[in-house]
Amino acid sequence: MIKVGNVAIGGDSPISIQSMTNTDTRDFNSTLGQIRVLDIAGCEIVRIAVPDLEAAQVLPELIPATDLPIIADIHFDYKLALEAIKAGISGLRINPGNIGSEQKVLKVIEACRERKIPIRIGVNSGSIPKEMLKKYGHTAQALVESALYHVGILENVNYQEIKISVKASSVNTTIDAYRLLAKKVDYPLHLGVTEAGTVFRGTIKSCLGIGTLLAEGIGDTIRVSLTANPVEEIRVAKEILKSLDLRQGLDIISCPTCGRTEIDIIKLTEEIETKLEKYRDKNITVAIMGCIVNGPGEASEADYGIAGGKKEGLLFKRGKILKKVPEKNLVQALLDLIKTDAN
Ligand code: SF4
Repeated sequence: MIKVGNVAIGGDSPISIQSMTNTDTRDFNSTLGQIRVLDIAGCEIVRIAVPDLEAAQVLPELIPATDLPIIADIHFDYKLALEAIKAGISGLRINPGNIGSEQKVLKVIEACRERKIPIRIGVNSGSIPKEMLKKYGHTAQALVESALYHVGILENVNYQEIKISVKASSVNTTIDAYRLLAKKVDYPLHLGVTEAGTVFRGTIKSCLGIGTLLAEGIGDTIRVSLTANPVEEIRVAKEILKSLDLRQGLDIISCPTCGRTEIDIIKLTEEIETKLEKYRDKNITVAIMGCIVNGPGEASEADYGIAGGKKEGLLFKRGKILKKVPEKNLVQALLDLIKTDAN
C-alpha cells in the first residue's frame, strides 16, 4: 500500500478516482479553477503536467490552495521533478529510465524518499522503447517488460513507494498487460486505457478495459482518459466503480421502453437523471419503468420508482404503490418523495 497525500492506494483501500487537468499549468487561475471543479465532481487525486520550469514554479502556490493530492507528471527533466518535489507534490509520475544519468535518477529518488512521495511508472503503448518493440513488438509483454525495467531501477536503490501503469489504446492489449503485470508484481496498479477517445468511444473502451480488470480484482486506482472536459472522466469512473459494487451511490435503472410505453420515458429519465445529480453519493436506487405490466414488479428492489401508464404514472417505493400522478407532475412527485426521505 502506498499513500498519495491522504489517499491510500493498494491493499484493501477503496479504488480511488484520478483525473488530469488540461489547462495550461502555467495559468494558475484556470488550473486551480479546474482542480476545484474536479474536486466537486468527486475526483480524489489530480495529476498535472509540468512541462517546463514556469509550470513547476506555479506548484508552490497551487498545492496549498487545494485539498486534493497533486501528482506532477514529468517527462525526462530531473530538475523539474526536484522543483515539483520541493513544492510539496503528493506523487510523481516519471519513468526513471528516461531521466538520464544515474546521478540524476538518484537525486530524484532520494528527494522522493525524504518526503515519502510515491513514483508512478507509467508505460504507454505509444512510448515503448525501440529495443523493447524490436524484441516484443506492440504487445502486452513489451509494455510489462518496459515497466519492469523502470521498476528495477527503483528497486536497485531499495525504493518501493511505487505504483505502475501499463496503458494501451487497445482494450485487449491493456487487459493482457495488466493481467501479466499483476502476476509479476505486488505494487499498486493504476488502471486506464490510454487515448481512449471522445466521451462516447472512450467511455466504452474505458469501461471494458478498466471494468474487466477490476472485476478480476486487478487495479487499485483508476483514470479514465477522455478527449473531453476532465469532469466527464470522473463521471465515467464513478459509474464504473458503482456498476461493479466497488462504491456506493445513486443508481438509476430505467427500462428500454417498448410498444407498451404510453408516456415519454426517455425525456422523463433524462430530466430525473439531471435533477438527482445532487444525490449522486446517496446510496439509493431509482427505477423509471415504462409500464405497469412489468414496471413495479421488475423494479421491486428499487427504493423509489415510477411506472408509466396512459399519460400518467404510478409512484412506488420499495415495490409498494403509493399513488397515481399525471405525467406532467411525475418528476416533481418523485423528487418530493426522495427529498422528504433524504431530510
Ligand atoms: Fe416495455 Fe414495460 Fe418493459 Fe418498459 S417495463 S420495456 S414499457 S414492458
